[in-house]
Amino acid sequence: MIITLKKDAQESEIQSLHKELEAKGVQIHTSIGEEFNVWGLVGDTAHIDERDILANTCVENVTRVSAPYKLANRMFHPEDTIVDVGGVKIGGNEPIVVMAGPWCVEGDEQICRIGQEVKNAGAKIIRGGAYKPRTSPYSFQGLGYEGIVDMVHAREITGLPIVSELMSADKLDEFVENVDLIQIGARNMQNFDLLKAVGRTKKPILLKRGMSATIEDWIMSAEYIMASGNPNVIFCERGIRTFERYTRNTLDLAVIPIIKEKTHLPIVIDPSHATGDWKYIESVSMAAVAAGADGLIIEVHDHPEQAWSDGAQSLKPEKFAEVVRKCTSIANAIGRDM
Ligand code: PEP
Ligand code: MN
Repeated sequence: MIITLKKDAQESEIQSLHKELEAKGVQIHTSIGEEFNVWGLVGDTAHIDERDILANTCVENVTRVSAPYKLANRMFHPEDTIVDVGGVKIGGNEPIVVMAGPWCVEGDEQICRIGQEVKNAGAKIIRGGAYKPRTSPYSFQGLGYEGIVDMVHAREITGLPIVSELMSADKLDEFVENVDLIQIGARNMQNFDLLKAVGRTKKPILLKRGMSATIEDWIMSAEYIMASGNPNVIFCERGIRTFERYTRNTLDLAVIPIIKEKTHLPIVIDPSHATGDWKYIESVSMAAVAAGADGLIIEVHDHPEQAWSDGAQSLKPEKFAEVVRKCTSIANAIGRDM
């Protein structure tokens, strides 16, 4: 249930309505807006009668929310949420943020070198996997903690915040201590215990869309993180599984306006996993920016042919710089910086 309060309402009346509602056992989330203040009620609101609420002169409007997600719902929080990742702001009208780096950390020298290259080309956050979710148990599983240490070194050298994937709650402390943006991968989007665990921190979370998740499933996963106490969620569309085989996944660009309509959270696009082929990354990135994405996360490797995996979907630094330049023109054309 959403209660819209008049801006010129008496504080004493607001206070007493607040107490009355809390006594009914619901949680109240306040959102201060330009024109109205909004209370989002979470919990069992079935026994609250709209007419009783409307009888208070401080109340402008009462609406029941039928969607199962509340805290992520735009109705609960009409203004855009801007998430701060180690000083880099994502969402709202902030400049579009590019995150870039290799699919995985291959060692200290590699991540520091590529980190510096992507920074020179305009990236604001460095990506790199240390714990890798692999289809085969016989494939390389990532450098683990050593990879995280190397990422931290890349941050020291470049001054850029870092994003890396957390696969299991037993590494949560390691990530909270070292990583600026914690990625929840497509395969873990519905690992509800993991979502609750990262929800108990205040760290920004990059929530990738599961490969067969509906938009509502995906928003409900954000709701899990938020319901545990962490409002700092960024959506990441990375393509879904369809019958199409010419691309690794099928990029669903319509999610950008839909996520922005239904929720107040930022959304970034991963054109590397979406296409699986470096040749398509430029066009898809430009389309994502044109459609209103708040950021891009792009795989970059200076020797893609030698990359330990996923080289085919990695851009070389020079090509990455060109993609950033072209996307910046698109961003400017729609009134945003990059
Ligand atoms: C990744 O970004 O390294 C990754 C494994 O992505 P996804 O979870 O989208 O497959
Ligand atoms: Mn090392």
